[in-house]
Amino acid sequence: MHKTIIVSNRLPVDLKYIDNKLHVKSSSGGLATGMKSVHSEGNGIWIGWSGLAEDTMNSEQKNEVDQAIAQEKCVQVPLTEYDIDNYYYGFSNKALWPLFHYFQAYTEFEREHWESYVAVNQKFSEVILQHANDGDTIWVHDYQLLLLPELLRKKNPTLTIGFFLHIPYPSYELFRTCPWRYELLQGMLGADLIGFHTYDYVRHFLSSTSRIKEVEVNFNQISYNNRIIKVDSFPMGIDYNRYHNAALEHDTNPEHTKSELMKNIDLHNQSNEESKLILCIDRMDYTKGIPNRIKSFEYFLNKYPEFKGKVRLVMLAVPSRENVEQYQLLKRETDELVGRINGDLSTVSWTPVWYFYRSLPFNELIDLYVSSDIAMVTPIRDGMNLVAKEYIATRTKDTGVLILSEMAGAAKEMHEALIVNPNNFDQTADNIKAALEMPKEEQKRRLDALQKRISRYDVERWATEFLKSLEAAKNNKPPQA
Ligand code: UDP
Repeated sequence: MHKTIIVSNRLPVDLKYIDNKLHVKSSSGGLATGMKSVHSEGNGIWIGWSGLAEDTMNSEQKNEVDQAIAQEKCVQVPLTEYDIDNYYYGFSNKALWPLFHYFQAYTEFEREHWESYVAVNQKFSEVILQHANDGDTIWVHDYQLLLLPELLRKKNPTLTIGFFLHIPYPSYELFRTCPWRYELLQGMLGADLIGFHTYDYVRHFLSSTSRIKEVEVNFNQISYNNRIIKVDSFPMGIDYNRYHNAALEHDTNPEHTKSELMKNIDLHNQSNEESKLILCIDRMDYTKGIPNRIKSFEYFLNKYPEFKGKVRLVMLAVPSRENVEQYQLLKRETDELVGRINGDLSTVSWTPVWYFYRSLPFNELIDLYVSSDIAMVTPIRDGMNLVAKEYIATRTKDTGVLILSEMAGAAKEMHEALIVNPNNFDQTADNIKAALEMPKEEQKRRLDALQKRISRYDVERWATEFLKSLEAAKNNKPPQA
């Protein structure tokens, strides 16, 4: 029986040495949930990096990590500190991440980073090939592994290879600036099926391919090297029931032990009947538009001063890639902006921005989602954005409004949200006002439509549709000349 191998940069397990003792936690992230049934089926395995640098462990620890990983049906690709600095923080996060998110000025194209990216993709292919039998299916995830499909196909053409990109695919004009554009495309074209979140990303990819390489593009199919490669959109969903049920539980369970955060939210809600909370949850990343959002909230308060004292922006920013300079600068800019606005506008009983720089456990995340009247998800650029979908899933009382950036992939499916251009402060301010004043019936009407769609296209459905399409694509042969 053929098996499916899932491949991503990080394994769905969190490993940590605390006081010389190994702590293992399996991840409950979106991808891990979506892949659950594929991963647990038959002899399916997941291959990726453990999160621990190989050259920081002694041989006993390495064995211990291997065993812990094997218990989770995973296999690790050992990476050194050098690999992580150059392949992960370097080429993946200083070149590809900003380039694919249209932050061209932030891109650093360093030969050393690139060479490490090639070497690590090679390392991944070697580990996979050791575990793959002829005819197996390999599903490769994301921008850290763009070269992998071709590396695998060259060594074993019997494999069925799918590739999914979790970030945007940029327009050709951006992509062409990369010195290794040819090699990157060549790498991706090793797949039988290439998936993106939206049809726009598909179009950009097809246009890059046909301009850079000798290929024939026919609708969403590419003829190349006597093979046909299918390209399609598969918008990723969430584990809807997990969020919806947790919100229901929050509403009904009187034993719910209240976190400090929740107590503060309760105090806010009691302070004034008209008081409202606007929620933002993001990784601290320049693509998420955090400074813009704070400035547009300030703009709103000045444009509509009647809301001063009544509305709070609750901002959860999760630390991310803290050793990359652009992320440190962003953190400083955010700290300063929040400090200035709170300094300028706070009163004894009101602070306009509540800012938390940390990650929260799931139950507190649910507290935040459930308690907020509005969610403001306004990235400058985002492949999909799952926070927008999670907020909708937690609406159990037919109330709540989502303000969503048109630059997020999620906007393509969530038309009933209030859609804004995050750079247009006037439009954003007007939509905050509209959200605060939206009649209950309209909130319900919009939520009903959103919930219906998001619950149907959940993350499991996403994985199933991709694999179904991959199965159909694998027997594709170009028409005989
Ligand atoms: N999240 C989390 N811990 C937190 C805050 C958020 O695990 O303290 C989760 C959130 O629930 C969501 C994910 O992080 O599932 C963020 O995904 P999204 O697609 O919005 O953005 P990404 O970080 O992948 O760019």
